[in-house]
Amino acid sequence: MKFGTDCLHAGYRPANGEPRNIPIIQSTTFRYETSAEMGMLFDLEKEGYFYTRLQNPTSDAVAARICALEGGSAAMLLSSGQAASFFSVFNIASAGDHVVASSAIYGGTYNLFAVTMKRMGIDFTFVDPDCSEEELAAAFRPNTKALFGETIANPALTVLDIEKFAKAAHAHGVPLIVDNTFATPYLCRPFEWGADIVTHSTTKYLDGHAATVGGAIVDSGNFDWEKYADKYPGLTTPDDSYHGITYTKKFGRGGAYITKAVAQLMRDFGSTPAPMNAFLLGLGIETLPLRMEKHCSNALAIAEHLEKHPKVTWVRYAGLPGDKYHALAEKYLPKGACGVVSFGVKGGRSAAEQFMNGLKIASVATHVADAKTCVLHPASATHRQMNDEELAAAGVSPDLVRFSVGLEDVEDLIADIDQALERV
Ligand code: PLP
Repeated sequence: MKFGTDCLHAGYRPANGEPRNIPIIQSTTFRYETSAEMGMLFDLEKEGYFYTRLQNPTSDAVAARICALEGGSAAMLLSSGQAASFFSVFNIASAGDHVVASSAIYGGTYNLFAVTMKRMGIDFTFVDPDCSEEELAAAFRPNTKALFGETIANPALTVLDIEKFAKAAHAHGVPLIVDNTFATPYLCRPFEWGADIVTHSTTKYLDGHAATVGGAIVDSGNFDWEKYADKYPGLTTPDDSYHGITYTKKFGRGGAYITKAVAQLMRDFGSTPAPMNAFLLGLGIETLPLRMEKHCSNALAIAEHLEKHPKVTWVRYAGLPGDKYHALAEKYLPKGACGVVSFGVKGGRSAAEQFMNGLKIASVATHVADAKTCVLHPASATHRQMNDEELAAAGVSPDLVRFSVGLEDVEDLIADIDQALERV
């Protein structure tokens, strides 16, 4: 199937007389005839649902849809993008381990890694995504378990050189994990460039309507855990909590990573999406190609307009020919550079805030990447926990305005921007 067809049909094909939409299975539990059968489910000896904290048919159908769109071997949904980022790393790294991550990542992910997971004993080294191959190689240690980056970084809008990162990860025997939230698989499929695991905040374009918070992890099934068995004992040696199952042996290269994340981490942390949210996510995905095309064309028109505006000091949008990341965008994002544009207003921080206050269509919101245009000043919101040095490393200048271009008629959005800039 082609991409657009998969958006509508992957993960759920109703049988004769069954509902055409993915059914919402709003049930905590599932009934069985015998307790022996239930025991087999608990031991992962039999496939089936027993408790929605672990798995639910609605969520699984939507996970299978996202899996098909990314071209993966297995996938899971989670209650948020934060949970997806956490699980993706914690599934293969424990206290005493080390992870290398791009410094240009979402502020919440940075906080999760640099503060919370550090408290759990996992050390992170942050590298400039534009660093040389030698600088990237120098960040690895013998106990490094993963490399992490973001396809289009929020809000710096840097474009990750996925091939460069994959090469470095594989040279050091670790998987590359890519947060593909801003690109979505419509604009970029990181597995095709060597990434091993993809994460999403489905809250953004995948849902697309700002209706549900959610996350997803997709495994490519390409990383050979057995080859580095000493490094990944959680996947390659018996799990006592499942009667000695070895995930790589029982579920193969394509299923081991996600099965472990569901069986252990979902069981223990319970970051489960509600079936209703999974349903809404599946519904949103149905129109993903149409929406992404409009987000991209609207954003490009706005970026071009801002570039010429006398009250705008700089514009960052990889779709612009003059942008620092244009060449990478042409390679990795040939269909468009997403709907998010960053720019600076003449007059710095206070001018940026004045501009935002004057907008009539675009709302000031801690959100991005949905159908209605919204705007945020990251230095005083999502990234306010960072000091100036950390802000600079994340590519967030104090005057940066993050403009998330929605699906409105672009003439209305440009008129709104112009009248708000007029007041500055
Ligand atoms: N990754 C990226 C790129 C994001 O933009 C966000 C949220 O803004 C997250 C992860 C975290 O996702 P959530 O808010 O769904 O927990």
